[in-house]
Amino acid sequence: MDCIFCQIADGKVPSEIFYQDKEIIAFPDIHPLAPIHVIIIPKKHVPSIAHINEKDLSLIGRMVNVANQIAENKGISDRGYRLVINCGKEGGQMVPHLHLHLLGGKQLANGLT
Ligand code: AMP
Ligand code: ZN
Repeated sequence: MDCIFCQIADGKVPSEIFYQDKEIIAFPDIHPLAPIHVIIIPKKHVPSIAHINEKDLSLIGRMVNVANQIAENKGISDRGYRLVINCGKEGGQMVPHLHLHLLGGKQLANGLT
């Protein structure tokens, strides 16, 4: 499998690890768009949020919880931050392995486009 995020999850591509458990791993974005830019993924290969089924719903909740904990650890909970999931081509998804972006540590622009 030549999925870069699977390779990070498997430890085949080294990365700083902010958090991991049996199902989830979090690591820095290689091209950060903010002082804090963390990628949170399920270890199993799910191509996008569109591929989440009913039994995976708790996984999404846990990913959000991990993002919140990392925000807390990095001291930006009170300042605010952004969680983003891009989905598919027109949604701007470039890496086809479901991931949640945690962005923060600066004033982010208003708007979503
Ligand atoms: P998206 O547009 O939502 O698919 O975002 C993919 C993100 O993955 C981008 O912000 C990239 O900078 C990031 N990225 C790509 N390759 C790596 C990598 N090897 N390690 C960490 N982040 C990566
Ligand atoms: Zn993958």
